Amino acid sequence: MSEGTDRLADVKGRIDAAARAAGRSPADTTLVAVSKTHGADRVRELLAAGQRVFGENRVQEAEEKFPALKAEYPDLELHLIGPLQTNKARDAVALFDVIQSVDRDRLAATLAKEMEKAGKRPACFIQVNTGEEPQKAGVLPADLDAFVATCRDTYKLPIVGLMCIPPVDEEPALHFALLAKMAARNGLAQVSMGMSADYETAVKLGATHVRVGSALFGSRPPLHA
Ligand SMILES: *Cc1c(COP(=O)(O)O)cnc(C)c1O
Repeated sequence: MSEGTDRLADVKGRIDAAARAAGRSPADTTLVAVSKTHGADRVRELLAAGQRVFGENRVQEAEEKFPALKAEYPDLELHLIGPLQTNKARDAVALFDVIQSVDRDRLAATLAKEMEKAGKRPACFIQVNTGEEPQKAGVLPADLDAFVATCRDTYKLPIVGLMCIPPVDEEPALHFALLAKMAARNGLAQVSMGMSADYETAVKLGATHVRVGSALFGSRPPLHA
């Protein structure tokens, strides 16, 4: 077995154990393998081991790697997990199956327009800035319910859930619990939360998607961290 295959088995085992400990079904959490900065060969290794769901945080980088892989593995599911500029919305709609980072009105409007043009409707998550950090993307918790309503009613976007990236220096469990509560309040079934350092906690608190990079692929070059 390759190192990547070993790591995949380890992460999946931990997700299963965390789910069982919380009385959840392991099948209710999807592992999104975050392959940013890593080449197509590393993605291929995990594809060979059965992994099908991947996450990238830059549209252009994903465009360099994934069209060929998707042609080879038609059931590959690609998630955009990083900030999306409106001028990249068309490309994002064309390539991604899920967009996890909808976080402002203009982007929601542009995505709606591009989905209409493309005749393709990638599922969307709204990113919430649960830590209210000025430098971080995401809708503020106080603005969330109104933004969900606008996305649904005005733009008819296929909103399926919420996503968050907690502040690095705070207890992630508080943020995960808050995100799950906000999703339930808005009738959203999916919550994307938890990264390499805290995905087991996220699973226990109801994550339907965990986004795991370094625990699967090893550390990234510092510039891209
Ligand atoms: C890079 C990244 C991850 C994965 O981070 P790791 O700590 O390597 O698991 C998850 N979510 C987002 C939004 C990211 O940019």
